[in-house]
Amino acid sequence: MSERIPLVGGNWKMHLVSSSAVDYCDALLANDDDPRAEVVLFPSFPMLPLVAAKLEGSWAACGAQDLHPEDEGAHTGDVSGLQLRDAGSTWVLCGHSERRHDHGEGDDVVRRKVEAATRHGLMPMICVGETGDERKAGRTLEVLERQLTAALAAEPTGFALAYEPVWAIGTGETATPETAQEAHEFLRRCLADRLGDDVAGVRRIVYGGSVKPDNAASLAAQPDIDGFLVGGASLDPEKFWDIIRCWGS
Ligand code: PEP
Repeated sequence: MSERIPLVGGNWKMHLVSSSAVDYCDALLANDDDPRAEVVLFPSFPMLPLVAAKLEGSWAACGAQDLHPEDEGAHTGDVSGLQLRDAGSTWVLCGHSERRHDHGEGDDVVRRKVEAATRHGLMPMICVGETGDERKAGRTLEVLERQLTAALAAEPTGFALAYEPVWAIGTGETATPETAQEAHEFLRRCLADRLGDDVAGVRRIVYGGSVKPDNAASLAAQPDIDGFLVGGASLDPEKFWDIIRCWGS
């Protein structure tokens, strides 16, 4: 087991409303044994202040699912890092594959988002991952290296990395522990090449892609998997707690 404190994020995506978010936080926090993992919930923008207030002083933190690269301006429908901090977020996802694919966000936009997060003291969780076609074409490592290099050009002072193979997100198809470990080990080597062994040794690299209570433990047993980013299964506080607890409490 590494020295890195495990990190588990719950990405609610475009689910829940205020009343169900309150019930969710109450149910999750009713588990009052301190988990061994650091936990972050990522609700949609409108629920950030509410969720941040519910989690204040607890073992869980609140993050946002996205941010605009600029601090303010004529960007209808977007939210800046400044506004996210004001709403109580301390973390933000950058480059989630649903943003890359649904909104055409390329590597350069992701770099600018990581820069904005860093500027506002938000901890970016930088998401990278290959599509099914890229994996079949033998391009997985090339894609991961390209996405990581672009994000690191922002020179973030702190960050976590999420390896999220696109073919495993929301599909029920999970990467095997060996496949995920291979990608995580590669990403850690890339971090070491760019930032040195000390930094690579402390940065958390979490796995995301159809994590559930029944596959979490075998993934968590891999030496370079330092936590999870959980979508679907995070919507049920009991399942999410079971995943968190696979790191011990
Ligand atoms: C995600 O949204 O980042 C994710 C990994 O989703 P799921 O767990 O549903 O595959």
